[in-house]
Amino acid sequence: MFAKKIGIDLGTTNTIVFVPGKGFIINEPTIVALSLPDNGVLAVGREAKDMIGRTPADIIAYRPLKDGVIADYYITKAMLKYFISKANHPNFFKPDVVISVPAGITQTERRAVINAAREAGAKEAYVVKEPILAALGADIPINNHSGNMIINIGGGTAEVAVVSLGGIVSWSSLRIAGNKFDQTIMDYIKKTYSLVIGEQTAEAVKIEIGSAIPSKEKLEFQLRGRDVVSGLPKDITINSNEIAEALNPLLIDIASSVQSVFNETPAELVADIMEKGIIISGGGAQLRYIGEFFKRMIGVETYVAEEPLFCVAKGAGLILNHLDVYKRILLNKR
Ligand code: ADP
Ligand code: MG
Repeated sequence: MFAKKIGIDLGTTNTIVFVPGKGFIINEPTIVALSLPDNGVLAVGREAKDMIGRTPADIIAYRPLKDGVIADYYITKAMLKYFISKANHPNFFKPDVVISVPAGITQTERRAVINAAREAGAKEAYVVKEPILAALGADIPINNHSGNMIINIGGGTAEVAVVSLGGIVSWSSLRIAGNKFDQTIMDYIKKTYSLVIGEQTAEAVKIEIGSAIPSKEKLEFQLRGRDVVSGLPKDITINSNEIAEALNPLLIDIASSVQSVFNETPAELVADIMEKGIIISGGGAQLRYIGEFFKRMIGVETYVAEEPLFCVAKGAGLILNHLDVYKRILLNKR
């Protein structure tokens, strides 16, 4: 398969690669396995994730975007190279590449990503802020003067942004998202049942029965962990209302951050958002009743985007398909 255009959603948890005409061709963890002490790249993506937990001491599995920022130039380049060459093989032609970056990226970081992409095999590289791509991918018209709010809840960060005229008017980024949800579920189960569970189990609980608000019809989940006292395996059953209660403080923090973005947004744009509602994207948008939670907290209708996990990659695809138009309105925006 070769591709003339490639869209890359470089997420803190998952990287999704979109090729116009072919669709989403890669969905792999954003993880790089490095060998110590020379920091050689051993594996990227799924292969690197499989090394976690069974790696010898001289191999480390590294999540380079853990806190939503691109930590390391060398590793970013290695990742981009892996994803670009996987999408474009054999690489007769260099592809144009659109890459999502965190909203808070500096000009220097932005240039670093562009250079990394070029060195990784891109002909031309365009970086676009994630909330813009998320909004585009969620079918929000971004280049008119009306205001739209998007909440993107990923693995490492929850980003809230108001988008208008192709730019970001106001935004905030919070390090509370999917990974913190998992951690909080682990802590809850340890505190309540004296049971130790792994991150993967906590994520499974969240996906299977996680809920943003308690409800009458409770869902249940049976899980096995290790008893803190005896050290022996123990089974318990937990329900969705317990999870809703455990996650509540984190969701309230995200709601406060929505409120503070509203406070920094010009009144006319606030009025637009009140009328049209808020859109949620990202993997965390799939938590049950999350739209209802924000509606209750903030008093504005809140909708989950279609295929929320893919909004950013879809947005990158839209830009690739209309590069001439978007070059003018978006790519010069800081
Ligand atoms: P990022 O862009 O940071 O890589 P994503 O948008 O890919 O993040 O979302 C990944 C997060 O979404 C993970 O924390 C994952 O556990 C969470 N997630 C995936 N599916 C669900 C679900 N059904 N309910 C709640 N959270 C989910
Ligand atoms: Mg994302």
